[in-house]
Amino acid sequence: MKRLLRGGHVIDPVQGIDGITDILIDGTGIAAIGPDLPVEPGLEVIEVPRGCIVAPGFVDMHVHLREPGQEHKETIATGTAAAAAGGFTAVACMPNTVPVNDTASVTRAILEKAAAEGVVRVYPIGCVSKGMKGETLAEIADMREAGCVALSDDGKPVPTALLMRRALEYAGMFGMPVIDHCEEPTLKGEGVAHEGFVASRLGLRGIPAAAESIMVERDIALAEMTGSAIHIAHLSTRQALRAVRAAKARGVKVTCEVAPHHFTLTDERIEAPLGYDTNLKMNPPLRERDDVEAILHGFADGTVDAIATDHAPHQADEKHVEFDRAPFGIIGLETAVPLALDRLVHTGLVSLRHLVQLMSVNPARILNVAGGTLRAGRPADITIFAPAVTTTVDVSASKSRSRNSPFDGWTLKGAVAATIVAGRVVHVNAQVPGAASLGAARA
Ligand SMILES: [Zn+2]
Ligand SMILES: [Zn+2]
Repeated sequence: MKRLLRGGHVIDPVQGIDGITDILIDGTGIAAIGPDLPVEPGLEVIEVPRGCIVAPGFVDMHVHLREPGQEHKETIATGTAAAAAGGFTAVACMPNTVPVNDTASVTRAILEKAAAEGVVRVYPIGCVSKGMKGETLAEIADMREAGCVALSDDGKPVPTALLMRRALEYAGMFGMPVIDHCEEPTLKGEGVAHEGFVASRLGLRGIPAAAESIMVERDIALAEMTGSAIHIAHLSTRQALRAVRAAKARGVKVTCEVAPHHFTLTDERIEAPLGYDTNLKMNPPLRERDDVEAILHGFADGTVDAIATDHAPHQADEKHVEFDRAPFGIIGLETAVPLALDRLVHTGLVSLRHLVQLMSVNPARILNVAGGTLRAGRPADITIFAPAVTTTVDVSASKSRSRNSPFDGWTLKGAVAATIVAGRVVHVNAQVPGAASLGAARA
C-alpha cells in the first residue's frame, strides 16, 4: 500500500533537506521524497500536522530491555512500546540480561522475541567478555554473525587495559564499536553519588569525577593504539568531555553519548525537596553544575555525538529502599525528546537539524545500522515531533513496566507527535493538535 506523508517540515541532514517536503511510503520503505509529489489514484494521503517536524527515525543506542531474565522490570514488548511512545524507531539493547548476551544463541533469542513482540527495531549489543566477568573475550565473531551491532560490558567497566585492547582489535576487524562504561573500579568503590559537597552534606559515599575520566583516557589511548572505534557511554564529567574533544582533534576514532538526565539535573537535586530520592540514583551519578555546563558546551561545539537514554527500568519495590541500597538507573525513553527540545533546542544551544543528528544520524552511523536518513529506497522509519507543543510528564501513563523516573510532573516544551516503523504508524500522541490524522493511518 502506498501512502503520502504530505506537507511536513522535513529535516534530513544527510540529504541536506530542511523544508516542506512530501514523503511517499510504499509498503515498508520510502519510495520517493520531494516537494509536491503527485497524488496518484488509490494513494492514501496523510497530512502532517502544522508545526511538526518530520525526521529520520530516532535511534536510542543505549537501552536496557531486561529480557531475558528480568521481565518484572521490563520486557522487549514493553520496552519497545516505551521507545515508540518516546519517538524512537530503533533501540540498541545492552547485554547485561540474565543470562548475559555473550553468545550467538542469546543474541538470536533476543532478535526472535523482538521480531515477534517488538514495536520498534531492536539491535542487540553483545558482551565484551564471557559472562561479563571481565576475564576473557566473548564469542565476538559468532555474536556479530547472529546480529550484534556493538560490544559492551555496560554496567561494569572492562577491568584491564589488555582485555580492552583485545576487544578493540577484534571489534575493529568486524567494523563494530566498543561501547565503554567508563569507571575506574577502585576509585568508584562503594560510591553511590557524585563525590562533592552534596554527597558530603548528605553523608553519601562519593564517586569522583576522575573515576570516569581515568577510564576514558585509558580507552582513548587504546583506541589510538589499535585504530579501532571506541564509543564512550553516558559521559558525565567536564574532564571526560575534555579528553574526548582532544582525542577527536588528533583523529582518534572516539565518539560519545550523553543521557538526558546528565544535561538536565545536578546532584543538588538529591537534597531537595524530599531528599534521598532513589530516582536520582544512577551510574554515572548526577554531577555538579560545572559538569553540566561543560556538557552543554559539548553539545554546542559538537563534541557530543549522540543523546542516548541509558533507559534502566527497576521495579518500584527495588527502588523503595534507602539511597545506599537502591539499584542504579532510571527509565528515560519517553522523556528524552521533550527534555532535549526543552533544554537544548529552546535554549538555543542546539538547532533542530543538530538535534536530528544527535538522535538519528549519528547513532545510526556509530552503530552502522540502517536509518539516519529518509533517502528513497531506505526503510520508512520516521519520527514526527512537535517542538512547540507543551506537555506534562505523567509517569503513571508510561508504556514501560517500570516507573523510576525523576521527571514525573515536569512540564516541557516539545513533544513527540508520531512514530513510524517500516511504514507502520506505531505511536500517535493525541496531545499534539492534528496528530489524530496520523493515527487514522494506523493500519
Ligand atoms: Zn553504563
Ligand atoms: Zn547502561
